[in-house]
Amino acid sequence: MELNNASAEQLAQWEQQLAAEFDAIKAKTLSLDLTRGKPSSEQLTLSDSMDGILKGDYTTTDGVDCRNYGGLDGITEARAIGADILGVPVTNIMAGGNSSLTLMHQAMSVAHFFGLEGADSAWSKEETVKFLCPVPGYDRHYSVCEHLGIEMITVAMTSTGPDMDEVERLVAADKSIKGMWCVPKYSNPTGVVYSDETVKRIAGLGKIAAANFRVFWDNAYGVHDLSDKPVQLASIFDACVEAGTESSVIQFASTSKITFAGAGVAFMAASDANLKGFKQSLGFMTIGPDKINQLRHAKFFAPEGSLRAHMQKHAEIIKPRFASVLSHLEAAFGDNDLGEWESADGGYFISFDTKPGLAKEVVKMAGEAGVKLTPAGATFPYGNDPKDCNIRIAPTVPTEAQVDEAMKVFVTCVKLATVRQALAG
Ligand code: PLP
Repeated sequence: MELNNASAEQLAQWEQQLAAEFDAIKAKTLSLDLTRGKPSSEQLTLSDSMDGILKGDYTTTDGVDCRNYGGLDGITEARAIGADILGVPVTNIMAGGNSSLTLMHQAMSVAHFFGLEGADSAWSKEETVKFLCPVPGYDRHYSVCEHLGIEMITVAMTSTGPDMDEVERLVAADKSIKGMWCVPKYSNPTGVVYSDETVKRIAGLGKIAAANFRVFWDNAYGVHDLSDKPVQLASIFDACVEAGTESSVIQFASTSKITFAGAGVAFMAASDANLKGFKQSLGFMTIGPDKINQLRHAKFFAPEGSLRAHMQKHAEIIKPRFASVLSHLEAAFGDNDLGEWESADGGYFISFDTKPGLAKEVVKMAGEAGVKLTPAGATFPYGNDPKDCNIRIAPTVPTEAQVDEAMKVFVTCVKLATVRQALAG
């Protein structure tokens, strides 16, 4: 289907055919859902043996009784899991509660209201506080900024990460920019892995940005590879040490999509100074994390190499679902310009761009045909995709057969919406 040179008659004929297909789909009253980046129940089952793993032994290797209060940093063996995922020394890791989003919100709040390096470093001392948001990106990052009244500035994602020329230009020129969101590996939703050059340049931002500038490095998909030969993400920690900017980046991860979503362990990696500043405030919020859950995780992943082997089992389950999405997109749009997408080698999403002005319409039509998609615009700050073209596809929860069915609907909706737009001229 090549729209550029199509005659009005040809377009009208396609419209008729596609509208008939669309009506036939609607008559099936499907109920399919490609919205949320959640693990499927098969994936969750992989961790069921964590239940009861403690067998009455609640003591850590260094003698901490996990049944009692205390230990803001988390237990040593859980911190070792975070250190492994994020590639930093255990001394620079905190193991927290069940959610990295909570840790990110807490770290942002502390940086904003109290300062990570003393009261003078609090962002809220200044009239305007801004954050850089690579787009498309993760909606909940934007919600945190909105909640704290932080203004968001978008920068484009490229195939190597955020547009670093633009990022460097902005942070050097505007000291009210206090940070940037990053999902460096299998970025939500584009699947992009930041290149070595991008990682190095991000580590360098601490030298040109405001002194209290912090990159929020959300490595949520750090071990979520689908390929046997995954792309390696360069170490931001090492790059910062080399640049002398250790305090300019705070890293996050969790086991939400490794063990149980919402019942895993979250991690924060930061410089000694950042951890000290954070813990000063954290001590007012909690007497310590859920160490029993941390110990369960530590025992579950105690055997050497078990975490990577566990992630391979996840990959086996979800690979066919991703492959189904990609084969539908390739078959429908591989030889035309009706849409563009990135084929992720990991993570939880495939990002699809329609022609400008069609994402909302496609999501609406798919909804009418019984396929729920993430609302168009959700991948942009304030829900506003200026080109109205980005749609996030999350194929992990539905079965392969359901993904297949849903993608047939999706491509029909994209084609029909595009043909109608061309007809409307
Ligand atoms: N960060 C990113 C980029 C995510 O995609 C998600 C969940 O979809 C989260 C964080 C949430 O993580 P957690 O469950 O640890 O709060």
